[in-house]
Amino acid sequence: MVSPNDIIFSMKVAIRKLKEISYQEIRAKVNEIFDLLGGVERFVSLGDKVLIKPNLLSPSRIEEARITDPRVIEAIVELIHPLASEVWIGDSSGVSTKSATERTMDSINLKDLLKRYPKLKLRNFDEEGKRIIEIGLGKRGKIHIALAQAVFEADKVINVPKLKTHNFTVMTCAVKNTFGCLPGGQKARVHAEARDPESFSHALINIHLAVKPTLSIVDATLSMEGEGPSWGKPIETKLIFGGENSFAVDIVASKIMGFKPGRIPTIKVAEDRNLNPDRIEILGEELKEVSFNFEPPKSGILARALPSFLWKGLTSRVRMDENKCVRCGICAKNCPVKAIELNPYPRVDERKCIMCFCCHELCPVGAVKIQERLLSRILLRGGS
Ligand code: SF4
Ligand code: SF4
Repeated sequence: MVSPNDIIFSMKVAIRKLKEISYQEIRAKVNEIFDLLGGVERFVSLGDKVLIKPNLLSPSRIEEARITDPRVIEAIVELIHPLASEVWIGDSSGVSTKSATERTMDSINLKDLLKRYPKLKLRNFDEEGKRIIEIGLGKRGKIHIALAQAVFEADKVINVPKLKTHNFTVMTCAVKNTFGCLPGGQKARVHAEARDPESFSHALINIHLAVKPTLSIVDATLSMEGEGPSWGKPIETKLIFGGENSFAVDIVASKIMGFKPGRIPTIKVAEDRNLNPDRIEILGEELKEVSFNFEPPKSGILARALPSFLWKGLTSRVRMDENKCVRCGICAKNCPVKAIELNPYPRVDERKCIMCFCCHELCPVGAVKIQERLLSRILLRGGS
């Protein structure tokens, strides 16, 4: 396990604003981000095998802002392809069936890139080798989980998250994105073991430290606000930003979204563990020129800091909309604690439900609704 003392990356975060969301403009801004951070050769050496880790949550259209825009991925591939011996794009989608990651890659035509870049390979983590590692969950002890072997085979990992709100983690950006390096059902296992945001944040941070990305480049061309990470509203932020230190990148991300960093569970836990930088140098655009006021998720997840008898009453509940539901069973199959039964529509056992919102995240038709509690709205909203 990497200790905080091993983290000696630069605390610079570079931000670039796009005039328009086009490949030409994205490529120009990605190149400028690398230049501001010291040039591509600082991050990729001749002959390196480079793994690009985007957010490939579930099959999607670019306009939904759910997954990393393939044009951001291609701009990075184009830049590093001449230097690298091999370039891989790899991920495991949120749904724990083998075909889901491939269908997500196909939904944004990633296979087309193979024709243009001969050293490029797509790596579906659900169908490849794994390595078992031990991760800490804070007060909840330690567990063993499998991480994609590709992470250990790569000389460099470039993390390419999408900027979104998240019902369970408030936001998802650099640190959260490496959770996708766990193949298939491993993600549900972590949810089942790390049920509260604090222990889940420890898990996310420890997975991130095991993956050790050399750089995070955030796709904030079109971001997501509200009910992220799947069913929120796209918001045209027209930004690309990034840096070597993921904790610095996430602090900047929270400020761009208009959220207080201390209210984001992963940032708070990173602070408690002395992983956050004391000072961040912003390059490119001024932060105040690129800050928004994202609508927060309405899951009431911040109530989890309260004793369990209180948060159980404050955190929002999930409800299935039978008019929308197509009875595919994805919610039941992916519920970490098997709280959902199909009969013939899904029914949630409230006593078992740990309110992780995975069913909301993974339902392919948006039939899982988050029912906000009145008291939670009064007590918790507006402060994230
Ligand atoms: S709620 Fe969504 S995921 Fe669950 S069975 Fe219905 S359509 Fe499928
Ligand atoms: S029912 Fe939904 S929110 Fe509840 S534990 Fe299962 S996946 Fe999580």
